[in-house]
Amino acid sequence: MTPTNASLGTLDPARLSRLDAEGAWLSGDKPTKETFLHIAMYRERQDARAVVHLHSTHSVAVSCLDGIDAADVLPPMTAYYVMRVGRLPLVPYFPPGDEALAKAVGKLAGKHHAVLLANHGPVVAGNSLETALYATEELEETAKLFLMLQGAAVRCLTAQQVAELRKRFG
Ligand SMILES: [Zn+2]
Repeated sequence: MTPTNASLGTLDPARLSRLDAEGAWLSGDKPTKETFLHIAMYRERQDARAVVHLHSTHSVAVSCLDGIDAADVLPPMTAYYVMRVGRLPLVPYFPPGDEALAKAVGKLAGKHHAVLLANHGPVVAGNSLETALYATEELEETAKLFLMLQGAAVRCLTAQQVAELRKRFG
């Protein structure tokens, strides 16, 4: 995991925090305070090999919007969003480090590889680091599109088009 108080721009692979499956710190620098978010995802998703958690601007902006659909925050605007992210539930707000936040993520993680923490940011699991990273990028760019299109009449993919994508690409 990323060490606590580390800048993502200057990460040193040799100093990354290494933890066991229970979250106990093995080596490297002291891990992020948000370790439990990653552990909650890994526990519920046997196929997860990487978990990305960021405070990326556009995703955080969407997580602060009032009146968004908590069951599925972003509409299906593009095929790649549907394929890489799918349904994105909103996790209710809890302060960073609160055990209740880990519980809330764990409750959704079995069914969703990507969740959005209210007023905080995304947590995305993948079966490789690349998969998790690409899904997180797709989420961030879609959040940006969603904000750009606020107030515009948007033509999203239809339920039938979404179903077709899920059938073809799983
Ligand atoms: Zn965070």
